[in-house]
Amino acid sequence: MTTKYIFFTGGVVSSVGKGVTAAAIGRLLKERGFNVTAQKLDPYINVDPGTMSPYQHGEVYVLDDGAETDLDLGHYERFIDTSLSKVCNFTSGQVYAEVIAKERRGDYLGGTIQVIPHITNEIKRRIMLVSKETGAELVLVEIGGTVGDIESLPFLEALRQMRSDIGRENTIYIHVTWLPHIGATDELKTKPTQHSVAELRSIGIAPDMIVARSDHEVGPDLCDKIALFCDVEKKAVVPMVTTPILYEVPLILENAGVGDYLLKRAGLTARQQPDWTSWQALIEKVGHPRPKVKVALVGKYVELHDAYMSVREALNHAGLQLGVEVEIQWVHSVELEKGRGWEEVRQADGILVPGGFGSRGIEGKLQAAKYARENSVPYFGLCLGMQLMVVDFARKIYNSEAPNSTEFDRGTPYPVIDLMPDQRGVVDMGGTMRLGLYPCVLQEGSISAKAYQQPLVHERHRHRFELNNAFRDILSQNGMRFSGISPDGRLVEIAELVDHPFMIGTQFHPEFLSRPNRPHPLFVAFLQAVKQREGIK
Ligand code: GLN
Repeated sequence: MTTKYIFFTGGVVSSVGKGVTAAAIGRLLKERGFNVTAQKLDPYINVDPGTMSPYQHGEVYVLDDGAETDLDLGHYERFIDTSLSKVCNFTSGQVYAEVIAKERRGDYLGGTIQVIPHITNEIKRRIMLVSKETGAELVLVEIGGTVGDIESLPFLEALRQMRSDIGRENTIYIHVTWLPHIGATDELKTKPTQHSVAELRSIGIAPDMIVARSDHEVGPDLCDKIALFCDVEKKAVVPMVTTPILYEVPLILENAGVGDYLLKRAGLTARQQPDWTSWQALIEKVGHPRPKVKVALVGKYVELHDAYMSVREALNHAGLQLGVEVEIQWVHSVELEKGRGWEEVRQADGILVPGGFGSRGIEGKLQAAKYARENSVPYFGLCLGMQLMVVDFARKIYNSEAPNSTEFDRGTPYPVIDLMPDQRGVVDMGGTMRLGLYPCVLQEGSISAKAYQQPLVHERHRHRFELNNAFRDILSQNGMRFSGISPDGRLVEIAELVDHPFMIGTQFHPEFLSRPNRPHPLFVAFLQAVKQREGIK
């Protein structure tokens, strides 16, 4: 089958759930028996999304192959339940860097390099690479930002060209817009949507479908009006009212007939009937009141919850399985250092310290780990959270504040977390992180092995520092168990405390592998411990 492309553009404003919409539509098509994948094109100039501030872009989402990507790829993986690869995300910066590198090599034989066709050709090449690499039959392509952004013009031009390159039946354009609500008259306005579609048309793209996002009920009259003014079929105007239940979005779109409409438009027939049983069961669980458990998430980007998107989702998935509602207490680690925010920590029945880089707020996180250790509060440390759990434990053993990670104190006499010897030279030259999937052998009888129920697992990494093997003996003699180790025995992947109900740290990021219907075993085990502490059966 020729690969079909569904393009998602945004109108009016950003942050209205374009990524979730694309991801959910991916699910609709997968449910019909197609091999689906998704790609995000980011129009900003940065070459490496991995170095961008979580304050501006939310979390960096890591794939199996180690690509550091936009958080929308997390939505795609969770909704479509597939593993994406590095070709599924690229930026303007990467496109320009590639074209300029070719020019420097003389590949263009002295020709004039222009946005059209050189930049647009490179964009199209990267879009078409996805189906080649993954074998996907349907590729969803989301363009970051909104129509009208200067940076996104070459991307839109490339999408426009694709329709004439590969044909109308192989290209579908979906525009996701926002309907503002006017309080004084209590009405929704379609004018901004009309303008944004007009702008899209001026670029040469006529949308096939409009998803109208709103916080308020969108009536049929309004949909008809959008259809008329924006020249799309009535059936192709899809109202999408904000739902507090993220995983309901595919069901809403299914009920609106989106899956069938898109297949028809692409000239395809479903290979199987969609089976929504497990999703419906999930939504029912969300709808039912469940006992609440409080988890304190101690981080330094807590003002922006998107910075911990996958952690939050992984907690939700595990909570659904265990029949509890997780209430996250967002605790700023810098505040803890100033003696503030401890009320939230004390009220919580579990403490989670997620990943992070840089020294700001480190002592606050260490204090949270110490509190969890001394008060037998369930603790789950992810990457940096694991490293700090080890530092805290070493500080207890040596009865000194000196043990540290060399990331924060280069001269510490007890570098319990350090670079591996063979890594040192490389890191000084600006390199390299351990990224992507690595194997981990579980130690029989450990809490982790019980949680996973299998001897060998693969988990995603994104870090430079490791537990220093020179301290393994002293740590284990004092009650730290290395329950997950790399198969060659060199790297500690999971540490847990023996005399504690649940104090576990993982050098990897388990949150990236959690799925709504398949929560991550360690998150489930953590919440089980939290639940027990709450006294919930
Ligand atoms: N900063 C730590 C390291 O580089 C932890 C990274 C993380 O939490 N992802 O090893």
